[in-house]
Amino acid sequence: KLFNEVQELKGNIRVYCRIRPFLYGECKSSTTIDYIGENGELLLTNPSKQGKDGHRTYKFNKVFGPAATQEQVYLDIQPLVQSVLDGYNVCIFAYGQTGSGKTYTMTGPNLSSKEDWGVNCRALHDLFQISRDRKNNIMYEVGVQMVEIYNEQVRDLLVYDDSFFPLNVRTLGIMSASQPNGLAVPDASMHQVTSTSDVLELMKIGLANRAVGATALNERSSRSHSVVTIHVRGTDKKTGASLRGYLHLVDLAGSERVDRSEVTGDRLKEAQHINKSLSALGDVIFALSQKSAYVPYRNSKLTQVLQSSLGGQAKTLMFVQINPDAQSYSETSSTLKFAERVS
Ligand code: ADP
Ligand code: MG
Repeated sequence: KLFNEVQELKGNIRVYCRIRPFLYGECKSSTTIDYIGENGELLLTNPSKQGKDGHRTYKFNKVFGPAATQEQVYLDIQPLVQSVLDGYNVCIFAYGQTGSGKTYTMTGPNLSSKEDWGVNCRALHDLFQISRDRKNNIMYEVGVQMVEIYNEQVRDLLVYDDSFFPLNVRTLGIMSASQPNGLAVPDASMHQVTSTSDVLELMKIGLANRAVGATALNERSSRSHSVVTIHVRGTDKKTGASLRGYLHLVDLAGSERVDRSEVTGDRLKEAQHINKSLSALGDVIFALSQKSAYVPYRNSKLTQVLQSSLGGQAKTLMFVQINPDAQSYSETSSTLKFAERVS
């Protein structure tokens, strides 16, 4: 069964839209989302335009409405995650403006409650479970790296000293020649994990380090990309043959456009880096969806880090996160357009 599902997903770039619920204090009467269909349709309404011109339909592989639980979302992507144990490379990322639920989807609002866990912890939990089920035949080793990309520099989130900062990133061409294990960020610390509690420990360290140097946690984390990379190696106990798979789990920087007239200096530089890397990601996925021969991986650190899991036999899933409120209309509209281009 698993094999068939894997075949079905293979080579696909899937786009799932997730709409977060209204938060306390938001006005529920003014929404931009008028309709969510069974087959991934979504009707977006421009609050300042009357009539037919004010509506636009988008279609994705799936749309999760505000009531969707973390578990429901995970169940849908479970086959994709599990295929890593069969040697596939998988990239799952969340795109959207700050406050749209990217971190909620990828990490969850609260690591101490299992129900709240996002994709990261559920994925690792699942990988451990299956590797236990298969342990008579296959021995799996699981390693975790976690880095942050901020202003086109890569930083290890799982070490206490920054002596390797900024980390080197290899491009795939060079990587395959000299580095058969295919690590895109070879100097980032690799942590072997054998249980979900190991993983929770690491996630906590990573989240805490993500805030270092920032005046406010939310500020910095919304302006950097965080990438959790899970490396899996399986060895057949009878034949000794081995396979590798990678899973990249990415919480992207907020996609909101900043007003150039209002920011200067460091803020402007940050905004330009974010812009550049998100459009580089869009260009790579677009090239892949067009089956184009040339894929422009080298245009940003983000696409270089993710290269092993974008394209080729790799499977890519994008969560497009949106807010339901009318005030977010213009960001929501540009988020959906970005997603439409790559789906
Ligand atoms: P982002 O990472 O995109 O900036 P967050 O994940 O921090 O956004 O979400 C912003 C707020 O909305 C948080 O308070 C979060 O708990 C809440 N939220 C996001 N998605 C959901 C959801 N599906 N259900 C309930 N609350 C959500
Ligand atoms: Mg966030």
